[in-house]
Amino acid sequence: MQSVVKKIVIVGGGTAGWMTAACFVKALGSHFYDITLVESEEIGTVGVGEATIPPIIQYNSFLGIDENDFIRETNATFKLGIEFVDWRRKGHSYIHPFSVFGKDIDGFTFQHYYFRHYMERGGGEIDIGKYNAPTEAALQGRFGRVKSEPGKPDLTYAFQFDAALYARYLRRYSEKLGVVRQEGRIVKVNQNPETGYVTSVQTSDDRTIEGDLFIDCSGFRGLLIEETLKTGYTDWSHWLPMNRAAAVPCDRTDELLPYTRATAREAGWQWRIPLQHRTGNGYVFCNDFISEDEAVESLLSRLDGKPQADPRILRFVTGRRNKAWNKNVVALGLASGFLEPLESTSIHLVQSGAFKFLALFPRHGFNPHIVDEYNRQIEHDYDNIKDFIIAHYKVTERDDTPFWRHVQQMSIPDSLRDRLDVFRATSQTLSREPDLFREVSWVAVLTGQGMVPQDYHPAADAMDSDDLRVHLGSWRNAVIERVKGLPSHEDFIRRHCASEALKMHQTG
Ligand SMILES: Cc1cc2nc3c(=O)[nH]c(=O)nc-3n(C[C@H](O)[C@H](O)[C@H](O)COP(=O)(O)OP(=O)(O)OC[C@H]3O[C@@H](n4cnc5c(N)ncnc54)[C@H](O)[C@@H]3O)c2cc1C
Repeated sequence: MQSVVKKIVIVGGGTAGWMTAACFVKALGSHFYDITLVESEEIGTVGVGEATIPPIIQYNSFLGIDENDFIRETNATFKLGIEFVDWRRKGHSYIHPFSVFGKDIDGFTFQHYYFRHYMERGGGEIDIGKYNAPTEAALQGRFGRVKSEPGKPDLTYAFQFDAALYARYLRRYSEKLGVVRQEGRIVKVNQNPETGYVTSVQTSDDRTIEGDLFIDCSGFRGLLIEETLKTGYTDWSHWLPMNRAAAVPCDRTDELLPYTRATAREAGWQWRIPLQHRTGNGYVFCNDFISEDEAVESLLSRLDGKPQADPRILRFVTGRRNKAWNKNVVALGLASGFLEPLESTSIHLVQSGAFKFLALFPRHGFNPHIVDEYNRQIEHDYDNIKDFIIAHYKVTERDDTPFWRHVQQMSIPDSLRDRLDVFRATSQTLSREPDLFREVSWVAVLTGQGMVPQDYHPAADAMDSDDLRVHLGSWRNAVIERVKGLPSHEDFIRRHCASEALKMHQTG
């Protein structure tokens, strides 16, 4: 059947543009569809964005990419989770890992059994992480690709990579499959005078690129979705006040850790992302509480190695575009919104937005019900992530700086308030099917931030005390067994997927 959408124009060649191009050409082919990507080297890309979450594995495998090859080419490392340092209070840390804690029993999730045990032993520090294999492996600096087996702990992982190299990798992939790249700075966007639909974009050297469908991957500015269609932006900075990041890569010094570190600072937090060729660092902050110069100074004073460039300041407003799909324009990447990088969700939102769009592909034109459905799905994704990120700031014992007092006392969305109340009272997390962050994530972060539930599901009381101890003990042993014998993360990479840069690098 003939499609009314034939010419697809992707505006922007950052991570979002090339991720979109690659999965579109893989899914749709280049026989019936012309896919053109326009980007401007002069404008450049945002140039940060290194940590991902596990669904990226599905994205890569959809493209048929060889994982070791991709790791080598992007200087990637494996990521088992995020270590949050000083978030609950100074000196405290916890890991938000990717696989579940413990084994469910008769359909009831592990945390209920854990909390019964915790209460019976009289409280103390929450140590649920010892029932999670990625946490154990991360703390020991080990990694392996462990086959998923029923009844055994999983070692789910994601990657940390050089996003610019990833975009380049996907560019090669896309061009091979037929995507046409046009270099040029777009200076004009033409619209149908009656419908307002975008008909073409014009470059500074006067080329006109026509299309039926436009994917706006032009970054924060939203060249089509905002500057042209004036779609509007929902600003969440009253809940997520971060509005700046200072970013700088530095020489790597230590063994490669298999996780991202997020350390709470006086007016925000600092990321540390180990890659094969360097360590990525950034201070995410709110400029009401610290100046740009002070943030840069603080960042530079807390690097493990020599900076490899001058720090860059990135400015943003947390929130999302009111509609990700408006007329014949779909925004992906930073053009569709930004929630700050605390849980490494932006690249994921590109992937999930692109796949959701492909599932609803407008072959027969722009049906408003389909457009509404897409926008609802994207809204849900953003809302769920937004609440999860706010929880990191709100649930804390820290009140040692004006910033921490502010976030501790700020108002929060009703949806998050309800979730926190329910968790505190019952250990239930209210997670449901389409949520990106589910039970394990909420349990890890809320308990890590210091929230202790007052009760657990009554099903946990049905278990005999001895049986409960045996159950917990045998899962803990299974976690230890899973991790025992795994090589160090760095050894694993050196053996299977070392980049040229790593081969040149001698540790110690
Ligand atoms: C501080 C910070 C940290 C981040 N950390 C992470 C992280 O750890 N994990 C994660 O998943 N994400 C992270 N992100 C987000 C991630 O960087 C982005 O989601 C991702 O890089 C996608 O960016 P983009 O392609 O949408 O935009 P950009 O990289 O800005 O690309 C925009 C593209 O549009 C082109 N363009 C713009 N205007 C024009 C024009 N007029 N004509 C032609 N071309 C044009 C540009 O040339 C460029 O190619 C972070 C973002 C920030 C700001």
